[in-house]
Amino acid sequence: MTIDYQLTLEYTLQSGWLEPFVRGLQQGIATARRCTSCEKTSYPPIRVCKCNHTGGEWVRLSGEAHIVHRCDGSEGSFALVQFIGADTRTVVRLENMPEPDAIGYLKSPLTKNANDKPVLVLTTDQQDKARR
Ligand SMILES: [Zn+2]
Repeated sequence: MTIDYQLTLEYTLQSGWLEPFVRGLQQGIATARRCTSCEKTSYPPIRVCKCNHTGGEWVRLSGEAHIVHRCDGSEGSFALVQFIGADTRTVVRLENMPEPDAIGYLKSPLTKNANDKPVLVLTTDQQDKARR
């Protein structure tokens, strides 16, 4: 037997070492981290590189990304994408991107989901492309 119970937590997260990444998101800029040992670039940034090095530098990407795989459903469209200049992939929500579009741009300003949480959004809007 189970009992449904909704638990709500409210807290404020500090951006910490991700501050350049978060500041970039708020400005619609894709700020990635490049490992100073193996030079792999991660977006979103990772603190410890696959080579186990923790040193890195912040680099600005164009915000353009290629769709690796997309999924369309009743909750919207989402995709696994790789931002140009990054060696890693990430999941984003797609907005105004009908198939077969395969290239999109990070939407600016930062978008929030239905739960008021920030979410990466890719769009084809020329307005967002023009900001770069
Ligand atoms: Zn590395």
